[in-house]
Amino acid sequence: MTAPSISRDEVIVLLRGVRPPDAGPPPDAIVGAWLDRLQGYSLGECEAAVLAMGPMARTATPSVIAGSIDNARDRTTRTAMESPGTGTPTATVTSLPGWQRQAQRDRHRKAGWRGIQAVYAAMGWHRDSTVDAARMWRCPFCHAAPGELCGPLSRNRAGHHEPRDRKTLMHPSRLTAGQTSETTR
Ligand SMILES: [Zn+2]
Repeated sequence: MTAPSISRDEVIVLLRGVRPPDAGPPPDAIVGAWLDRLQGYSLGECEAAVLAMGPMARTATPSVIAGSIDNARDRTTRTAMESPGTGTPTATVTSLPGWQRQAQRDRHRKAGWRGIQAVYAAMGWHRDSTVDAARMWRCPFCHAAPGELCGPLSRNRAGHHEPRDRKTLMHPSRLTAGQTSETTR
């Protein structure tokens, strides 16, 4: 049973609870951005996440709210499974400082990526180990996190020009970093 995804009107309700009382109606651009980011989450989940933040909710972003809900969902689905053994098993999401939540999300993302690799192995599909190795690295050019795809950036702030490799959709310097790590391992 899943509650319906949050609607535009519900986002306005949520924003009213987060913004200062004298802030007036939230601008359309903000409502749109929040609606976009919170697709797939219900008003109930969003409100629970905001409540759990207490006074911090005043500075909450939709990404923080979404992350908090993801963590809560993870905990719920994990109750019947064994402890993940990744430390801080007694800490609740609401008591975790931001950096720890970020670390937790990184772990989830890496676990997700390991899951994908396991599926490929089980299906006997071929994967390019250069791409896999590169993907475990933060991209030196666009700074995509380990496990994430490179962004479409082709020129960075330092003025360097580096289009993505068309086949792997990764920046060449990331592929090189992956290759180096393979040979020195
Ligand atoms: Zn990149």
